[in-house]
Amino acid sequence: MKLKKFVGAHVSSAGGVFNAPLNAEKIGAKAFALFTKNQRQWKARPLKEEDVEKFKENLKKVGISPDHVLPHDSYLINLGSPDKEKRRKSIEAFVDEVERCYQLGLKYLNFHPGSSLGKVSEDECLKIVSESINEALSRTKEVILVIENTAGQGSNVGYRFEHIARIIELVEDKSRIGVCLDTCHMFAAGYDIRTPEAYERTMKEFDDVVGFKYLKGMHLNDAKSTLGSRVDRHHSIGKGNIGLEAFRLIMNDDRLNDIPLILETIDPSIWKEEIELLYSLVEG
Ligand SMILES: [Zn+2]
Ligand SMILES: [Zn+2]
Repeated sequence: MKLKKFVGAHVSSAGGVFNAPLNAEKIGAKAFALFTKNQRQWKARPLKEEDVEKFKENLKKVGISPDHVLPHDSYLINLGSPDKEKRRKSIEAFVDEVERCYQLGLKYLNFHPGSSLGKVSEDECLKIVSESINEALSRTKEVILVIENTAGQGSNVGYRFEHIARIIELVEDKSRIGVCLDTCHMFAAGYDIRTPEAYERTMKEFDDVVGFKYLKGMHLNDAKSTLGSRVDRHHSIGKGNIGLEAFRLIMNDDRLNDIPLILETIDPSIWKEEIELLYSLVEG
């Protein structure tokens, strides 16, 4: 039987990016996410050519396609910053991240849209995010920028599907923009997925407002936070307030075939078991 679901986790790239595919293989992952640089620092040394080659070799060795790798950008970057200088710093760091993904032969870069810091309206912030994306796209090539929905904690935008649709609307090159749906963020933002009916309603809403054609990946996280709480607290699969049923629905939803499904759950020591658990939910 041909594999339809590609489940993995956000693995460590400590010691070098080339270690990430090996760390993915160790937990039986068919997909993975990684940081291509230290996510808590603005600057990074350029990738060494030999490290890039080693990364590509290891990816081949473990049999994971670049289609199923979802790199994540640094948490410091705020493409929606109302402060001109901070936005400039963010765009420069973001362009560097896009270039690193391109060098590694990867297709995507996953990022959080941004934060208004309470200084501008949400719509103004979404416009700033789109302008930043347009600049990043014009200065780089090929890599698809994948907007992640947020929990809406603090002044973060991107917690409503409408926010994501608005950003996409303002992006000039729509062939290079995508979406990653995080289940914990969705739930915290008020989108219920706990029953077949609720799940279908939420997914239909996503399709109507944004469109499945933009969906390039998912983050599979259960939630310590509650429905609509706007609090971003992940939990291990089946142990939080979302519960296992939602993940059974995801694992049997053909609209989610062939995209990276990435765990960002709180206990890396059980990722292998969580991946096995998720695959055990596939029916037929
Ligand atoms: Zn996430
Ligand atoms: Zn989160």
